[in-house]
Amino acid sequence: MCRHLAYLGPPIALAELLFTPPHSLSHQSWAPRDMRGGGTINADGFGIAWFQDDASVLRVRRAVPLWTDAGLPALAATLRSGAVLAAVRSATVGMPVTETAAAPFTEDRWLFSHNGKVTGWPDSVAELAAALPVRDLLTLDAPTDSALLWALVRARLRAGSTVDGALAAVVPAVARAAPGSRLNLLLTDGETIAATTAGHSLSYRHTPPGVLVASEPLDADPGWIPVPDNSLLVATPTAVTVTALEGALQ
Ligand code: GLN
Repeated sequence: MCRHLAYLGPPIALAELLFTPPHSLSHQSWAPRDMRGGGTINADGFGIAWFQDDASVLRVRRAVPLWTDAGLPALAATLRSGAVLAAVRSATVGMPVTETAAAPFTEDRWLFSHNGKVTGWPDSVAELAAALPVRDLLTLDAPTDSALLWALVRARLRAGSTVDGALAAVVPAVARAAPGSRLNLLLTDGETIAATTAGHSLSYRHTPPGVLVASEPLDADPGWIPVPDNSLLVATPTAVTVTALEGALQ
């Protein structure tokens, strides 16, 4: 399955997340360590979204492996941001490999990624999808489980949910509709990171005033803390909490 990460804190070069560390996101794209049986490498696309100084969001997505973009390392060494979400994709069998199927999915200040898969797709979640506005279904980023999860989360955010509240509502609902799904979701609004663990690995490193949440630790720093399965993580640069995500794996 995919690997993803999110960072909040003092501005850093994107390369510090994507390329420079020994187990950077690029390294995780071809040599991930903890895929838990969900695929082998993450070569079906990548995406990076980051806040700029003026609080606007820029995003780059491509349908090629992260390591094949020869121009990106130099760009990423130059671009700096204090709020970043990036992902590399391993497409679930049967799902299209297209640029728009790669996370992050974004709207306004919200950046979202999904690591995992919805079992019984698409029938298992047809009823949940039916509760969304038809327009949202007609404009899904791609006909994939991750894009539908984003639409479900986004509907909550638009209705006023916090980032963690949106995940805490959507993950148990999807887990009930599609038991056995893997639902590691990652979401930020540039001020808070929310993440769930349901079937896949996740770790965080809190070094105030910065916090980094990633599918796999980027280096051997002993400050990395693994997040137990079936958890909801809420992180800001000053505080991280991890609580049980009731009902996510029923
Ligand atoms: N099911 C997701 C997709 O196909 C895959 C995400 C993942 O973790 N591999 O996009």
